[in-house]
Amino acid sequence: MPDRSIEEIIEIKRDGGRHAEADLRRLVAGYVAGDVPDYQMSAWLMAVVFRGLDHPETVWLTDAMARSGSVVDLSAIPGVKVDKHSTGGVGDKTTLALAPMVAACGVPVAKMSGRGLGHTGGTLDKLESIPGFSVMMEPEEFTRQVCEIGIAVIAQSPDIDPADKKIYALRDVTGTVPSVPLIVSSIISKKVAGGADAIVLDVKVGSGAFMKTIADARVLADELTRTGEALGKRVITLLTDMDQPLGFAVGNALEVAEAFAVVRGEGPEDLMQECLALGSRMLVLAHVARDADDGRAQLMRAVESGRAAAKAREWVAAQGGDPSAVDDPSVLPRAAFTRVVSAHEHGWVAHYDAAAVGRAAMAMGAGRASLADSIDPAAGLVLAAKVGDRVADGEPLATLHAASEALLDAGEERFRNAIVMSEHKVGARDLVLEQEDDRKARP
Ligand code: URA
Repeated sequence: MPDRSIEEIIEIKRDGGRHAEADLRRLVAGYVAGDVPDYQMSAWLMAVVFRGLDHPETVWLTDAMARSGSVVDLSAIPGVKVDKHSTGGVGDKTTLALAPMVAACGVPVAKMSGRGLGHTGGTLDKLESIPGFSVMMEPEEFTRQVCEIGIAVIAQSPDIDPADKKIYALRDVTGTVPSVPLIVSSIISKKVAGGADAIVLDVKVGSGAFMKTIADARVLADELTRTGEALGKRVITLLTDMDQPLGFAVGNALEVAEAFAVVRGEGPEDLMQECLALGSRMLVLAHVARDADDGRAQLMRAVESGRAAAKAREWVAAQGGDPSAVDDPSVLPRAAFTRVVSAHEHGWVAHYDAAAVGRAAMAMGAGRASLADSIDPAAGLVLAAKVGDRVADGEPLATLHAASEALLDAGEERFRNAIVMSEHKVGARDLVLEQEDDRKARP
C-alpha cells in the first residue's frame, strides 16, 4: 500500500481514528524537514486537541520527536543520571536550589534547560542574571564538568529534539498547548533526547499551571509516567501546588537570590519543602537514598553542613559566574526603581491568580512575549504575604522592581488584580498535593 498523504493522516484524526506508527513518524520527520507546512501541522494538532491520542500513539509520537535530532550520550558520566522537569509555574526556581543540593549528595546533575516564555520563567534566564555566568558549552566540556564537579546546567543545543522546538512554537500561537498527549510528548521527548536514565516530574496544579484541577493533573501525571516508562526511563511524578507563586520572588535575579538562600538553609519554607520533595526522589532513583525520608535527611545534612552552598559556588565559578552571588545577593543586577504595594484593607490573603502575578512581573520587564524579546534580569516582584497570611490596612503586599516608574505602574495594576483578599480567616495551602504512591492507591 502506498504511504498515506499528510492530508489523509489529518483526516484520520479529525474523524477520531487511530494512527499507524509509520504515519506519525512520517508526519514528524516531514515537519522537521520542512516538507510538511505549518498549516497542515496546525490542522493535525487541533485534531489531536479534540480527539486525543491513545497511549501507543503517544509513545510513538514521543519517540519520533526524541529521535528527530541527536540524543545526548551521558554514558561517560558515572552513576545514574536523573533529570528533573517541572510542567511550568510562577516563581519556580527549584532547579537552581535543587541542582547543587542533589550534586552535594553525590548524584550527578547534567541538565539542559530552557528559556522562559509567557508568564512562566526559564532556568537559563535566571542563571544568566548571575554576572559572568555562561549557559553555552560544547558537549565534551559539559560532560567533563559533570565528571569533575558533579554539576552543569546548560542551554539545550539546537539539534536536540528539533521537532519539539518547532511544534511547541506552533502550538503556542495556534491554541493547541492544552492537550495531554501533546504536553506528554513535548516533555518526555526532551528528557529522552537529553540522555537521562531516570526522571522526576513536578506536575503543577492551579491558577498558574496548565492543569487547573487535581483530576486533570492526575491524568497528565499518569500519562507522563507511562510514556516515560514505555521508553525505558524510570519516572516518579509529584503533583504540587501552583495556586500561588512558589517562594516569594518572581523575576530572574530576585529568584536566584531566593534559590541560593535555600541552598544556605535560609530560604522560604515552601521552596525548601519543594526541593526536599523532588530532590529526595532524585536520590532514590539514583540509588543513593533508601527511600524518600532517607533522601530528605541527606539533603538537609548537605544544606546544614554548608556542602550544598560550597557546591553552588563551585558550579557558578565553573560556568564563569561570580561565586560570591551564592552568599551575597547585592552582586546580582538591581532595579533602579522599587515600589512597595500596600493593602487597602485588613484581611487574609485568600488566593493569587498565579499566572497574573507572572504577567505582572513580565509587564515590568522580567519575561518575554516572544523568544526574540529581551528581558531585564533585575525586574520582578517579591511578595510580602502568601495565602493564609493576615495583612493589616497599609501593610505591604509586595515590593515591585523595575527600570522606570511607568513600568512599576504597569506592574502594580496587574499585581493588584492578581490578589484576592478575604475578611475571613483562610488556611495556608499544602504544597505537595499528591505523590505517585497516593495515585497508585486510588481505586
Ligand atoms: N512544558 C513543555 O515542555 N511542553 C509542553 O507542552 C508543556 C509544558
